[in-house]
Amino acid sequence: MFETTIQLGLDTPVQYLKGAGPSRAEAFAELGIRTATDLLGYFPRDWSFVPEPVLIGDLKPAKSVCVIGTVERTDWQPYRRRPFFEAILADKTGICRLLWFNGKYLINQLEPGKVLLVHGKADYYKHQIQFTNPKFHILQPDQPRDSDAFSGPIYPACAKLPSWVIKRVIKVNLDKLYPFIKELFDKGFLKKNELIERAKAYQWIHNPDDEKQLAKAKRRLKYDELFLMQLGLALKRYHLRHTAPATALSNTDTIDSRIRRRFPFLLTADQDQVITEIVADLARPIPMNRLLQGDVGSGKTVVALYAALVAIANKQQVAIMAPTEILARQHFLSIERYLKNSKVRRALLIGGMPAVKRGALLHQIQSGEVDIVVGTVALVQEDVDFDNLGLVIIDEQHKFGVHQRAMLRKGKSPHCLVMTATPIPRTLTMTAFGDLDVSIIRNCPPGRGEVITRQVHPKDRLAALEFIRKQLRAGRQAYFVYPRIDSETTADIPNSDIKAAVDEHRYLSKVFAEFTIALLHGQMLSEQKKQIMDDFRAGKIQALVSTVVIEVGVDVPNATIMVIENAEQFGLAQLHQLRGRIGRGSNRSYCFLFSQSDDQVALDRLAVMTRSNDGFEIAEQDLRLRGPGELFSTRQHGLGDLKIANIIDDFDLLNLARRDAFAMIDADPSMNKPENAELRRTLIEKFGDSLGLVDIG
Ligand code: ADP
Ligand code: MG
Repeated sequence: MFETTIQLGLDTPVQYLKGAGPSRAEAFAELGIRTATDLLGYFPRDWSFVPEPVLIGDLKPAKSVCVIGTVERTDWQPYRRRPFFEAILADKTGICRLLWFNGKYLINQLEPGKVLLVHGKADYYKHQIQFTNPKFHILQPDQPRDSDAFSGPIYPACAKLPSWVIKRVIKVNLDKLYPFIKELFDKGFLKKNELIERAKAYQWIHNPDDEKQLAKAKRRLKYDELFLMQLGLALKRYHLRHTAPATALSNTDTIDSRIRRRFPFLLTADQDQVITEIVADLARPIPMNRLLQGDVGSGKTVVALYAALVAIANKQQVAIMAPTEILARQHFLSIERYLKNSKVRRALLIGGMPAVKRGALLHQIQSGEVDIVVGTVALVQEDVDFDNLGLVIIDEQHKFGVHQRAMLRKGKSPHCLVMTATPIPRTLTMTAFGDLDVSIIRNCPPGRGEVITRQVHPKDRLAALEFIRKQLRAGRQAYFVYPRIDSETTADIPNSDIKAAVDEHRYLSKVFAEFTIALLHGQMLSEQKKQIMDDFRAGKIQALVSTVVIEVGVDVPNATIMVIENAEQFGLAQLHQLRGRIGRGSNRSYCFLFSQSDDQVALDRLAVMTRSNDGFEIAEQDLRLRGPGELFSTRQHGLGDLKIANIIDDFDLLNLARRDAFAMIDADPSMNKPENAELRRTLIEKFGDSLGLVDIG
């Protein structure tokens, strides 16, 4: 016989904890809980504070009361303005009414004869005492009826591990475990930020006496979570900036005025401001890592070109990358326009070039005979080698840093500027993009026509088309955008009234028989696409019917009409992006959102578009409506998901945590100070060595 003594600690496997055991440990593992630490970090999804039950006859209006009774009868009232489910509950002293709005799901749960423990707010309604939307538990005959059994935390559970089991295992171990939880901050810091001790927070999150304790526990744990994420971001930023130095690029008054002479207009105040920020970055031997945000047409390209010319004035090469060939060409064309007759040597590098030509170009890039290379991401392919790459500009690219590292040459890191026309809400620039510096162009250059947005209901379609006909006659151009290419791809989608570009192109060609209507979609050959775009730009085509391929970057000032079919199928951010294709010239533009949907939520969402032209406001709304979503997942940086904090609801705490975390890394970049030892350990435990904190040897 041998006996193992398990030293209880935070590393203790769940199976050795009181009340767990091997088979439960397996079930715990399915919930991702393997150790005592995991268990402590398994936060309740809700808490209830159920007071001792009272007799129904003694019931008085109160914010939080509890009764136990038998269901006498029930009724589902679907035809009310707000449908509700009603039950009459009785004990030997009286009856009360229970009411749940939209409670259809209760029909099969709450049959007469069931015994319920009901908890919530009680109030008089037409002289009868009533609970509205109360919480309830159906009591089995042998079940304990003290409120304790129903109070406290409610855990996300699974079939094998109901919430009450998790609750019991945590409860019986909590007192022994929480003293092991180490504090991350000193007393002064906690006091200043009004945070309770970490160990206390764990204790109270699992077993609060009241709402007050719970609120304090939540605040501390949310803060920790946000702080650790921000600390991770601050470290990443520090590493990006200090792994390899960049070439410091200086700007002078001469350079500045030479560059400005290239632009046939004065730069806007916003453009000047972000240029100041960029120039300050470039002047340091630390690689710039800046995100330049600005709505479509706000003048980012001009800013990027300014930065490029500063780099070139410092004898450096510049790479400009776009997500598609169409956009790369367009960037190249606009750069050509600005750089006419200049000595700057520029080249376009895209797929499908004849091998000989491509080879010669690569050679020129390698030997420094080209100053600006515009291309797609193919620019970072292995065979493209720069002589002296000083600045990389990436348009419309969300994932980067990868590219930047891929372009490290000769131990030098280029400066990096990422441009995006997708307005990113502040909450996300602080998290998903939290290791970047951010510049924003808020206001577009003057002289833009107004953009009017309208929701068009099916009955008004023909009137809208006639309006568009008038605009086309007046020489304007139009985009028609559909969610899908052809009806084949929508055939298996139950919602078959989703319009497809191919079919609608046929239809619109008849409606607008007197005009040239062209079809453009992502599956066409790039030569074909280019031809169509060129013809559209030249005005040979009056309307373009397409899928979202035109979403990014196409710039035709004469196009003033944007029709989006099945608009409810698109996200707000995407709708805004599409709308950005018009309103680029001085004429008034019109965006028509066609929708057959009668879903109120969808229509409300579209109404945001008719109300606002501000990309940031729309993005913020979009985020609220959809949640952060995959595109902007905080996972993007490998810094994990948030368990308890929410970047939207806890924005103020996020701000605080960010400020504190960045200040800490400023003061202790490699987290070596003894007072930060516990934080350092926690970070490594949470993020592994991805932050470069784990020392070799
Ligand atoms: P973005 O890249 O942000 O979509 P661009 O830089 O392409 O915007 O600019 C959009 C249009 O506005 C271009 O036609 C450009 O020539 C023009 N433009 C940019 N800056 C100014 C300015 N300061 N004053 C007037 N027009 C400008
Ligand atoms: Mg642009």
